[in-house]
Amino acid sequence: SELRLLGPAEIRDLAELLDVTPTKKLGQNFVIDANTVRRIVRVAEVQAGDSVVEIGPGLGSLTLGLLEAGARVVAVEIDGRLAAQLPVTVAQLAPDAAEHLTVVHRDALAITELPVDPVRLVANLPYNVSVPVLLHFLEHFPSLRSGVVMVQAEVGHRIAAQPGSKVYGAPSVKAAWYGTWRTAGSVSRQIFWPVPNVDSVLVAFERRDDAPGDEQLRLRTFALVDAAFQQRRKTLRQALAPVYGDPPSAEAALQAAGISPSLRGEQLALADFARLAAASPA
Ligand code: SAM
Repeated sequence: SELRLLGPAEIRDLAELLDVTPTKKLGQNFVIDANTVRRIVRVAEVQAGDSVVEIGPGLGSLTLGLLEAGARVVAVEIDGRLAAQLPVTVAQLAPDAAEHLTVVHRDALAITELPVDPVRLVANLPYNVSVPVLLHFLEHFPSLRSGVVMVQAEVGHRIAAQPGSKVYGAPSVKAAWYGTWRTAGSVSRQIFWPVPNVDSVLVAFERRDDAPGDEQLRLRTFALVDAAFQQRRKTLRQALAPVYGDPPSAEAALQAAGISPSLRGEQLALADFARLAAASPA
């Protein structure tokens, strides 16, 4: 059954009612287009009864789409006015789905527990914290199997990038620890209010069941990744010197892991970084 979703007029009315001036700091650009909302829900393959966590529900555009698909939604919103209004909006526009919504008024980056274990993450992420939020939720909620997020185009392409690509970087390697990622279509900036000055892209992920190692290995791997991309033009022998003490020690560690010391970080896959971390505790 199709619910009433939020269009330009509804968004304007809600913003006026709440006296909301969208802030850049919180990445507040609200979706005003029902087709985009239904597209995100479709790409995410949300099934009736799924437990979905949504980060930053804002005025509720995507939340209503998720509820329309029959999901149980936990929505985490940092802005108190928006968090307080969301149940009211849903009670008005989708009364039958109201019991399927739980709103948590908090900073998503501070959340380590939710009332239910979410299986999917679906969000139009606040752009300034999109990568940290994704990594945080994948780390803290092992129940998450898959997700679709809308992010700034450059960020989305970086997250999904493969070794050797120009935009391959620390976010690509870290994201790969948790799952496989793909971009799933671009989104016009015109479907937001206010219109942002960047383009957007959908990114889909599926969690992998064969992560390279435990938490300890993850932390060591991520430290190597950070060092390697901090100085991305340097060879690994140089870039990893701060981690291992000096260039010769870095070179020895790389050779022990079967990695040429004259390569650069952008040429290593996650498996290489993880093998290095496992072979030579820094
Ligand atoms: N989902 C809505 C939509 O599609 O119209 C709003 C998306 S808007 C791009 C991002 C939302 O995230 C805003 O509502 C903002 O207040 C919220 N937000 C920003 N930083 C946050 C954080 N650290 N934790 C939770 N929510 C946050």
